[in-house]
Amino acid sequence: MALKIYNTLTRTKELFVPIEEGKVKMYVCGPTVYNFFHIGNARPFIVFDAFRHFLQYIGYQVIYVQNITDIEDKIIKSANEENVSTAEIASKYTKAFFKDIEKLGIKKADYYPKASAFVKEMIELIKVLIEKDYAYESDGDVFMSVEKVANYGKLSGKLIDKLQVGARVEENQAKRNPLDFVLWKKAKPNEPFWESPWSKGRPGWHTECVVMSQHYLGTPFDIHCGGIDLIFPHHENEIAQAESASGKKFVNYWMHNEYLNIKGEKMSKSLGNFFTTREILKKYDGEVIRMFFLSKHYRSPIDFSEQLMIEAQKGLENLYNSLRLADFSPKSEFNETEQFKEAFSKYEQKFISALEDDFNTASGIAVLFEISREIKKRLSKNKKITKQEKQDVYLLAVILYRLGKIIGLFNKEEKFQKNIDRNFEDILGLLIKIREELRQRQDWELADKIRIGLKKLGIILIDKKDGTEWEVVL
Ligand code: AMP
Ligand code: ZN
Repeated sequence: MALKIYNTLTRTKELFVPIEEGKVKMYVCGPTVYNFFHIGNARPFIVFDAFRHFLQYIGYQVIYVQNITDIEDKIIKSANEENVSTAEIASKYTKAFFKDIEKLGIKKADYYPKASAFVKEMIELIKVLIEKDYAYESDGDVFMSVEKVANYGKLSGKLIDKLQVGARVEENQAKRNPLDFVLWKKAKPNEPFWESPWSKGRPGWHTECVVMSQHYLGTPFDIHCGGIDLIFPHHENEIAQAESASGKKFVNYWMHNEYLNIKGEKMSKSLGNFFTTREILKKYDGEVIRMFFLSKHYRSPIDFSEQLMIEAQKGLENLYNSLRLADFSPKSEFNETEQFKEAFSKYEQKFISALEDDFNTASGIAVLFEISREIKKRLSKNKKITKQEKQDVYLLAVILYRLGKIIGLFNKEEKFQKNIDRNFEDILGLLIKIREELRQRQDWELADKIRIGLKKLGIILIDKKDGTEWEVVL
């Protein structure tokens, strides 16, 4: 078995060879904390978190860094709009970020550097770039001179000549070339600033990620990730700075997830066509959102729809159902027989080779459904199940559970606590009856208490003409 990754830099699927044996150093561009992140932003957060889970499963020690962009123009704009300081905005949305990713079941990164904590190091990098004549100061701003950068455009495949034709003529006369990008930005009145040799100002976004990633991971490091919108200019400009300053390769593998679209268009704050992850989390459990993203390959676009979310919910429920039908409990002791080992190895191999093929979670999840179908098929025979058959089914459930765990599924312990089946339905029926009586007596408050209480437990009541039905949701 061998892990292959599609590397944006070479536009090919490459065999993954880590710099240090047994270790993977990876960096994922994090959120700009000026607003609640939208469900499109959740895609890289979830996908690369799952990728990390997988890398750990196949034996790598992973150092996982995700930055918090807390210095950026959008934060200043947001602070002005909300009439508070930029630090307050950044702190509010950083907290919100952590709360939301926890609900998405994302494991904590090893490090969450904040840009504001690394300004000194950013200034040092810019100084080196000026000394080496890659960058120049102009009226308090500092720019990177792209023409001086060897192979500028190598990540995005953009050629300087073509870019130049397309670039609009900047009003900013401070730049020597319209393509030059800012490393240090002089502060305007009322903007936050840090002291520097050039002006009171702030670093540019591209400089931030170079410094934070190298600080924790060194140069070069293994994998740098983000959405495809970051290929140009963000990641191209990271490479330009890092490699010009150090003279070494910056990153070996670049992984980029495709967009979450909405009606064919990229979901984005600026277009206003977004749902915040918070909003979606009110309706669907974080694990459903994980299932939603992992059901597709990370390099395929997804068009967001309620229908797809419901499908993900049903799919996940289907898997949990099979586990419940098999009486599976993650807490039960399980004796790993030879028969188990053999069956596990067969499915594991299939699952792992799907994920090793550029992290094809869609094919991996298909394996989970295959096991789930097998469990149901064996249980649906029209005869009493023997003890042996029950054990065989349990064995399949253990396999299903263990494989799902590799990509961060099956964390809802409470979903395994069913096996009170009949009791459960009887008690629910009784509650529905009592509620019905309360409604007839017009005691809406108490009737609602039952409905809301059940909803909190993941049971939705649906009132129909001829009675009330119920549904278990995640
Ligand atoms: P931002 O906070 O805008 O820097 O974005 C955080 C991450 O979300 C980056 O990796 C972006 O590439 C990614 N991203 C932004 N919009 C989308 C989208 N519609 N679909 C998938 N990823 C996105
Ligand atoms: Zn970045």
